[in-house]
Amino acid sequence: MTAFYRPSWAEIDTSAVAANVGLLRHLVAPSRLCAVVKADGYGHGAVAVARAALEGGASMLAVGLVEEAVTLREAGIEAPVLMLTEAPPDGIEALCEIGATPTVYSEQGIAGVARAAARLGRPVAVHLKVDTGMHRVGADCGDVASLASLVAGVGPLSLGGLWTHFAVADEPADAFTALQIDRFEAAARAALAVGTRPEMLHAANSAGAIAHPRSRYDLVRCGIACYGHAPSAAVAETLAGLVGPGEGLRPALALKARVHAVRRLAAGERTSYGRNYELAEDSFLANVPLGYADGLRRQLGATAAEVLINGRRRRIAGTVTMDQLIVDCGTAADVQPGDEVVLIGRQGGEEVTAEEWAERLGTIVYEVLCGIGSRVPRCAV
Ligand SMILES: *Cc1c(COP(=O)(O)O)cnc(C)c1O
Repeated sequence: MTAFYRPSWAEIDTSAVAANVGLLRHLVAPSRLCAVVKADGYGHGAVAVARAALEGGASMLAVGLVEEAVTLREAGIEAPVLMLTEAPPDGIEALCEIGATPTVYSEQGIAGVARAAARLGRPVAVHLKVDTGMHRVGADCGDVASLASLVAGVGPLSLGGLWTHFAVADEPADAFTALQIDRFEAAARAALAVGTRPEMLHAANSAGAIAHPRSRYDLVRCGIACYGHAPSAAVAETLAGLVGPGEGLRPALALKARVHAVRRLAAGERTSYGRNYELAEDSFLANVPLGYADGLRRQLGATAAEVLINGRRRRIAGTVTMDQLIVDCGTAADVQPGDEVVLIGRQGGEEVTAEEWAERLGTIVYEVLCGIGSRVPRCAV
């Protein structure tokens, strides 16, 4: 890694990623596991987590962009890489050239891969995606047979897989997932009926893999769970019932910094932009060098969010600014410049979770993790 000087960083516990993948694999066996490393590995650093996931037993990786597939290959990762949407026309040849696996769901998409395969003079296995109700991308269920036949009819192409994606698998009680599974199986039968045979079927995201055993098929595509987080509280509960006591997912990311400066201000003083945080007593305030440009959302301050310094929870004092935030350290002079600040993670017996942030911000843990800015150095631990 290039040198960094700012005393703010994200620690990535790659052994936690490997252990999470191992736990998930055990849970879904004999199905295999594809580790989803799009969005720079959900903000953890795609290359480091891809390596850790492969070490933990993943047999495939998945990405959202051609660029992300290229990054993995440039790092020397040779494992199968699945692209989760049709590649842009300009990117399909690059994707095939590095031996990544294209997803297709339209005649134009299939034609694009066929042209790339012909130009490169090599066979390409594609995965056909069917929309069973998410309504984002994918072939209509009724078009699966004809698209599968189209793939089979193009010399250098083969049908490496048939897959779909769930809309509400993170709500295990919602019956819509079972309907999606039924539609997916009907689509698979339709492909077989016209003489095509997808090499594998896959449907489950983390929530499907954990909470919907019927959806595990040949492969599960897990993202968030590899990073040590359940997709929702309900799925966390389901998982707790499936694994032994003391077992479970381990969060892989901690966000830390060191106190830049400490000062004492009198009762009644107000801090930061908007001056909306007032000190009730004479208090020590710590300046922490992380801000909204690093993913510490500006409104966190208004949600009474807390960070850990010297093993104690301390409240963010007012509006988070672009590069810095202020922490109320109370009346005792127990915080010094250079002290470690934990924004996400453990310190002493205390923990601030990414889930806690998500709840404060009215979002999901995925968005908190992906939102950690690219200028925060990621350090493998
Ligand atoms: C992001 C994504 C996944 C992984 O979802 P998680 O909930 O993080 O496990 C799986 N499949 C597709 C198509 C995705 O876009």
